[in-house]
Amino acid sequence: MMPEFQIACPQNLADAITEASRLQGEVLFVNGGTDLILELRSGQKKADWLIDLSQVPELQSLPTLENGMLKLRSGVTFTRLSTDPLVRKHARCLAHAGEQMGSAQIRNRATLGGNIASASPAGDSLPALAALEAEVTIEGSEGARTLTVAEMLAAKEKTLKARELVTEILIPLAEQGIERRSTFTKIGSRTQVSIARLNLAAVMELEHGVIRKMRLAVGAIGKAPLRLYEFEKEWEGKAVKAESAGKIAGEIAGTLAEFLTKTVDQAIPGRHSQAYKRQAVQALAFDVVAELFPEQGLGQGGGGNGGR
Ligand SMILES: Cc1cc2nc3c(=O)[nH]c(=O)nc-3n(C[C@H](O)[C@H](O)[C@H](O)COP(=O)(O)OP(=O)(O)OC[C@H]3O[C@@H](n4cnc5c(N)ncnc54)[C@H](O)[C@@H]3O)c2cc1C
Repeated sequence: MMPEFQIACPQNLADAITEASRLQGEVLFVNGGTDLILELRSGQKKADWLIDLSQVPELQSLPTLENGMLKLRSGVTFTRLSTDPLVRKHARCLAHAGEQMGSAQIRNRATLGGNIASASPAGDSLPALAALEAEVTIEGSEGARTLTVAEMLAAKEKTLKARELVTEILIPLAEQGIERRSTFTKIGSRTQVSIARLNLAAVMELEHGVIRKMRLAVGAIGKAPLRLYEFEKEWEGKAVKAESAGKIAGEIAGTLAEFLTKTVDQAIPGRHSQAYKRQAVQALAFDVVAELFPEQGLGQGGGGNGGR
């Protein structure tokens, strides 16, 4: 049975922040409700008041480009992420995460802000946002602050305090003359929770055939997604000439598979899912590199894609 609570429906951001500090008792925000309603129903969370953000126009407007950033509002749905032309062009791995999350009904309701606030270790947006070096704006009655996703993931405590809300997500664009390639893949599903789950996002930036940036983040092998800093450094500055691209792509995939296996061993030693995950990450490594080098036909076909 659904517990009783009251709902406030602010019509703008300032009112949402004021209501959050004014209301008495346990106050929670709700946007799509895809996580929260289940948590309230199961008793995992309790609320006297829900503040519905779905009617707040500042949180629902479409993605835009501003000052070298792709600006997303926290109420953007996963359906919108998967189809929006700006997201597909500048943050493809996030669009891929949008395509592969949940079912069509869930994607239509679930928001990026809700996914960030829920901070599930298997949440699909976080590895993509980490690989894109995104920043998150958080607002409350004491003002606004911006944190990088890396800072949020590294924090020991919850970075989002009670009655604070996620308002914007900013993704730096690739600089002029730099080609950005990015992708996301995963194994697992919510409907078959017994299947171990993994997700992996990658961003590679090339300038005149040289790898300028490599950013990867793997999710669902710890409390929060892990950035693969050491692996990234190994490949930055390496040339990818047309004639040797296949060889380089093969080397990257092989090294990544090895690196991810070690990461799983370090992150979840002795856990029952360790054996499965150390195999599965290898397939994800090949799938991701195949997407980064589409001309090379590398894929092993063993990796993810939503719903499995
Ligand atoms: C069947 C099913 C399948 C799913 N599949 C996936 C999947 O494949 N991948 C995945 O990542 N997730 C999945 N989810 C989880 C869920 O859909 C996502 O986490 C979603 O992004 C949550 O967004 P929401 O808007 O529905 O959040 P809500 O349920 O409205 O809120 C979630 C939490 O965030 C808080 N909150 C919401 N918006 C804000 C805000 N702007 N600022 C601060 N706090 C906020 C709420 O108080 C609550 O604690 C699935 C859920 C279900 C039920």
